[in-house]
Amino acid sequence: MKTKFIFVTGGVLSSLGKGLAAASIGALLQARGLKVTMQKLDPYINVDPGTMNPFQHGEVYVTDDGAETDLDLGHYERYLNVSMSQRNNFTSGSIYNSVITKERRGDYLGGTVQVIPHITDEIKSVILGVAQNDEDVALIEIGGTVGDIESLPFLEAIRQLRSNLGKDNVLYIHLTLVPYMRAAGELKTKPTQHSVKELRSIGIQPDIILCRSEVDLNADIKSKIALFCNVDEDAVFTARDVQSIYEVPLALYEEGVDQKIAILLRLPAKNAVLPQWKDLVDKLRHPKDEVRIAIVGKYVDLRESYKSLHEALIHGGVCHKSAVSLEYINSEEITEQNVAQKLAGIHGVLVPGGFGTRGVEGKITAIRYAREQNVPFFGICLGMQCAVIEFGRNVLELERANSQEFDPTTPNPVIYLMAEWYDHRSQCVQKRDMNCAKGGTMRLGAYPCLIKPGTMAHAAYQVESVEERHRHRYEFNAAYAQAFEQAGMLLSGVSPDNALVEIVELTGHPWFVGCQFHPEFKSRPLAPHPLFCDFIGASLAFKNKG
Ligand code: GLN
Repeated sequence: MKTKFIFVTGGVLSSLGKGLAAASIGALLQARGLKVTMQKLDPYINVDPGTMNPFQHGEVYVTDDGAETDLDLGHYERYLNVSMSQRNNFTSGSIYNSVITKERRGDYLGGTVQVIPHITDEIKSVILGVAQNDEDVALIEIGGTVGDIESLPFLEAIRQLRSNLGKDNVLYIHLTLVPYMRAAGELKTKPTQHSVKELRSIGIQPDIILCRSEVDLNADIKSKIALFCNVDEDAVFTARDVQSIYEVPLALYEEGVDQKIAILLRLPAKNAVLPQWKDLVDKLRHPKDEVRIAIVGKYVDLRESYKSLHEALIHGGVCHKSAVSLEYINSEEITEQNVAQKLAGIHGVLVPGGFGTRGVEGKITAIRYAREQNVPFFGICLGMQCAVIEFGRNVLELERANSQEFDPTTPNPVIYLMAEWYDHRSQCVQKRDMNCAKGGTMRLGAYPCLIKPGTMAHAAYQVESVEERHRHRYEFNAAYAQAFEQAGMLLSGVSPDNALVEIVELTGHPWFVGCQFHPEFKSRPLAPHPLFCDFIGASLAFKNKG
């Protein structure tokens, strides 16, 4: 079968959960036995979100091939359990970048380079290039809201694709909001009508309308929307608010969304099989226990900054049929005096990744507390580096132990910037050039890691070799390896050439693990990450021992 394309646009306002809706539809089509891939097209000018502040844009999601991408790719991977790559996320900036590169190279043979056709052709070529493994369906999510100036070239490109590929091969889904006016006790369809009008004015007639709403749309409302928006009556669906994001595939299935898509695209008429999703939702709805985890970090005000982490912790709870209640604590507010009080009633402490000095001392204080009080601790990337600094200062008594990121002249750079390292992926030596642009100096993407038997890390993974994703510049300084191990901080995961320390843990502590990589990117609701399972397991044990 030739790949069919489904385009998902959003109307009325942002934050309607377009990424989740798209990923859920992907999961439903997959459950019908189809091979599915996804792509996100973002209208902003940054070439990728790698340089964007997480306060503004939320998490930067990293793929195996080291692409720094939009956080929606995290949803795609979590719902489809398919690995995404650089080809699954493009921005206006990256599109313009390649068009301008071609122009400078003389590829356009002296022609005037314009939005239509050059930018739109480039967009079409990246869309058509997404399905490289004989996928039956490619779901393409257009970022932003219809009506934005920025997204116009993307909408023009997808409009053209319907004529290029034929109407049996292209489907448009539009997600809108149908607000419920409590005072009047009424659902309002006007914003949807306006949004679809906007879409039609640029030549796109949606085939399916998904209406995000607090309450179910009744048949009258659906037929009113169908009439005004010129779609089939059975092509208007409620995308109702649900308790957990993992209920969305089931909610859309109950509405019959995948069935309508199959009819319109002439896909094989197979029913979706969803026992795993039902089982997952059941576990989430009826937890047997509950555990309180503190996330001690800097970006606590914008939860989107820790999206994958948040989800991975929930998945860890699923391993034990336990609910996980997350408390975000701003590390800048933690002091030696108040740490016990701030972490009172907490069953596990997690220090996530981050950049820059702000809040680091508070994280170190929280880690010391977890180490000394035997509270389960999980340090990720910067969190692992802080655990190393804390151990260096308070156990090895290296008073100024630090990362060169925070104190470039420290006499004890336990975390440091390596000049070069051997990259097992490209099989060559990577050099870090301090003068390079930020992106160029980071260790990005999946790297192999060997796990030492008999460690907490091995108890979790149960294998001796794994691949995990990285996004950082600094590393554990191997010059200190022996001193750390002798004092009880075990280097339980290392690179195959033994040069890079990937996991540290404390002997004699119930559960204290730090990893240089970001395991949260590889956790799936239907396949929770082993380290998150064991961290939550240890936190439950800590809670229940009282
Ligand atoms: N700032 C640290 C580094 O660059 C950690 C990065 C991270 O936590 N992702 O190495």
